[in-house]
Amino acid sequence: MARVAFYGLGNMGLPMARNLVRAGHAVHGFDPVPPKQETDIALAGTPERAIQDAEITITMLPSGQHVLDLYDKLLPAARPGTLFIDSSTIDVNEAREAHARAERAGMRSLDAPVSGGVGGAEAGTLTFMVGGEDAAFAAALPLLQSMGKSIVHCGGAGAGQAAKICNNMILGISMIAVSEAFVLAEKLGLSHEALFRVASTSSGQCWALTSYCPVPGPVPSSPANRDYAGGFASALMLKDLRLAQGAAEAAGARTELGRAATQVYEQFVRDGNGGVDFSGVIRAVRGE
Ligand code: NAD
Repeated sequence: MARVAFYGLGNMGLPMARNLVRAGHAVHGFDPVPPKQETDIALAGTPERAIQDAEITITMLPSGQHVLDLYDKLLPAARPGTLFIDSSTIDVNEAREAHARAERAGMRSLDAPVSGGVGGAEAGTLTFMVGGEDAAFAAALPLLQSMGKSIVHCGGAGAGQAAKICNNMILGISMIAVSEAFVLAEKLGLSHEALFRVASTSSGQCWALTSYCPVPGPVPSSPANRDYAGGFASALMLKDLRLAQGAAEAAGARTELGRAATQVYEQFVRDGNGGVDFSGVIRAVRGE
């Protein structure tokens, strides 16, 4: 059993913290905004109070600036050797900066962003992509296993964030590619079912097609069957694509399709679709 301070009890953080409590860990939570649902997590009045006895802290915050600002408050208040795990999706360089600040203060740290969305957070089936030293990873593993089912140590500081944005860049691009194929098929008089049957067993096969098909019918669980409600919000896809573009520019990588996908989602979100599942982008591709 570990003593955990959990920061950011929003859509993802609250169910993650609940799973830690269920697994028998002692969790103190802090969020400036009270959680939306009743919770059995002990809430602290200030960030510093939550960390008082903690061996491990987890942050699940909106942005890198939130993480760095909070670390500046927590690091002087933490016991030496406390393990800081940041599971927010943030810029790779900001993640490295968070590691550096933690190390300077005598703490251990990991970047450990997740995929799997709110459903995965509730079910405890998230994928964690982890960056940091081997010993810190080993110490965090039992805790991460209480919240996720696939825990991948990707490398040193920032490697978890790098894996997250590379994966989501593939996803953003491939969802637009699949959407363009369905829209072209519509114009050519080819049915959704026929294209799905062929592409899902041919070289066009990919997750955006076979698990998350952007047209209703072929994959009954995909958000297309419920008017693109729920799922993974387009605003969050845009956030991740922008992080990927920022990282690509800083690293000098050519990501032309990543840039084009970012522009498509920027327009889609600007048109008022930030809360719509990202597969709803097929409507923009259709020109609706
Ligand atoms: P959210 O906005 O629902 O929750 C963020 C919470 O952080 C809010 O409740 C906010 O009040 C709180 N917060 C802000 N400043 C704080 C501080 N100083 N101390 C403590 N709490 C503070 O967002 P979310 O959907 O839970 O996402 C959290 C992170 O997870 C983001 O980085 C997001 O990109 C990433 N993520 C989200 C999803 C998803 O499907 N929602 C999936 C994967 C990754």
